[in-house]
Amino acid sequence: MTYTFPPPPVVSVPVIGSGARFPVHRIYCVGRNYAEHAQEMGESAGEPPVFFLKPADAALVVEAGQTGQFAYPGLTRELHHEVELVVGLGEGGRNIAADEALRHVFGYAVGLDMTRRDLQGQMKKRGGPWDISKGFDHAAPVGPITPAARAGEITRAEITLRVNGELRQHAALSQMIWSVPEIIARLSTAWELMPGDLIYTGTPAGVAAVRPGDALEGRIGGLETLHVRIV
Ligand code: MN
Repeated sequence: MTYTFPPPPVVSVPVIGSGARFPVHRIYCVGRNYAEHAQEMGESAGEPPVFFLKPADAALVVEAGQTGQFAYPGLTRELHHEVELVVGLGEGGRNIAADEALRHVFGYAVGLDMTRRDLQGQMKKRGGPWDISKGFDHAAPVGPITPAARAGEITRAEITLRVNGELRQHAALSQMIWSVPEIIARLSTAWELMPGDLIYTGTPAGVAAVRPGDALEGRIGGLETLHVRIV
């Protein structure tokens, strides 16, 4: 078989303790998965979390020990950080039961759901799609994946984001409204999940704007730290 032009390369994420890389299929995201973040976004209490997607090639893959270079995007004056636990699936499926869901997890990583907040606000007002605010090029920085067995009891971990050394976001992963098994179960009723899917599980409170020159450090206990510089 021949192609009319070369197909795009497979986007892949390094795996801690392995020479094999994790090939990315889709990027699913959960919005409003921490109560205090939903409040800071002006959402009424009790609104359930939501799902949205980013293109697979929006992943900005940061190798172990490296600092990702994130180019400040156009069309915005309000680029926000959202630090999130990222789940990488090793097995797919439809209608996965929550009590079976963790068997589908390959591993975990620290990610940033970068957001053009001003454009998201405009789209919310118009009832329009979020893609232009969430699915732009390189909008999904992600660090190396730690295999689940090596990551330990991830739900007991804490998540933090520092900008230029200053703490901006801090929460316990146990504060998620939908837990990881529940997210996988719910997602798998709407889409057939596949090996290689990445799931951004939502951000805690404290989201704010970043500027060129800022150094971002995302941490989750047991996982590789994510370093990103805005350029
Ligand atoms: Mn998010």
